[in-house]
Amino acid sequence: MENEKLRCLIIGSGPAGYTAAIYASRANLEPVLYEGIQPGGQLTITTEVENFPGYPEGVSGQQLMDDLKLQASRLGTDIRQGVATAADLSARPYRVTFDDGRTIEAQALIIATGAAARYLGLPDEKKYAGLGVSACATCDGFFYRRKTVAVVGGGDTACEEALYLSSLASKVYMIVRKDRLRASHVMQRRVMEASNIEILFEHNTLGLYGEKAVEGAMLVKGMGTPGEERVSIDIDGFFLAIGHTPNSGLFRQWLDTDEAGYIKTLPGRPCTRLAGVFAAGDVADPRYRQAVTAAASGCMAAIEADRYLLEKL
Ligand code: NDP
Repeated sequence: MENEKLRCLIIGSGPAGYTAAIYASRANLEPVLYEGIQPGGQLTITTEVENFPGYPEGVSGQQLMDDLKLQASRLGTDIRQGVATAADLSARPYRVTFDDGRTIEAQALIIATGAAARYLGLPDEKKYAGLGVSACATCDGFFYRRKTVAVVGGGDTACEEALYLSSLASKVYMIVRKDRLRASHVMQRRVMEASNIEILFEHNTLGLYGEKAVEGAMLVKGMGTPGEERVSIDIDGFFLAIGHTPNSGLFRQWLDTDEAGYIKTLPGRPCTRLAGVFAAGDVADPRYRQAVTAAASGCMAAIEADRYLLEKL
């Protein structure tokens, strides 16, 4: 099959990818967008989105992504199903191969492949997905006002999520596998000072229970020690905060990444170390990871791509 030649290829269909597509289409870059492994991205697995500007009554994550897709499509983006399987960024045009067998040669490439929240791998996390299990306190915390929740993890994200939830929920447990937090001192101090956060050190989660939704978690204290003990806590929500994995694997060989794999870009800009390759959204953002910040960086990536193509070609 002959390689397809494009001016602008976008990989990923979260808020970053679709917003890049909207801007690239309006700039006549005739973009092709490949949806990737999870069409619509992480928002399709959250429930209600109440913090995306412009929706006074909130909107379901799926609806928001359907709307963005429709908007990109109406403006002319060629949206395709498919997952990138190989990339060659050694020279321009940049080459990306997809699981439909097609190889695309693009003058400008926008990587918006997102990140995936890490889960413990318990079957109950799937069983109660959307029924009390969440990996985003900012997205779902509002539904746990005056309820009891648990946050798994002891890093900065877990502390942030626990603090955010402590302002809404009546009680927040932190389930921490070690005898200490990994988070920065300032975050540790804040969670220690919050009167409604209780840290369960040296606890691991065995499973969840509840008839229709999460009603509690089964934990083990001091796992593998002589004093090992089973503990149950009654909770309404179970939040994972054990880190995210950026979906940057295909590109790490060619781009700078931090130790967690997030693609490094110029400060405040989506430009990578390769001219014409841009990274937008969660794949390049270990800090904010919000739909609206992802959308904004997608916009910036398309504007940068347009300027790059005007100047260089
Ligand atoms: P981290 O990798 O820093 O922390 C992950 C936490 O989850 C650790 O406590 C780890 O435990 C725990 N964990 C991992 N796997 C498991 C498991 N299978 N079971 C139980 N617990 C588990 O990730 P974060 O997302 O917290 O932070 C990522 C980076 O982003 C860090 O550099 C952080 O400093 C930064 N960040 C900064 C913020 C800020 O400055 N405001 C806010 C958020 C993040 P253990 O310690 O035992 O390994």
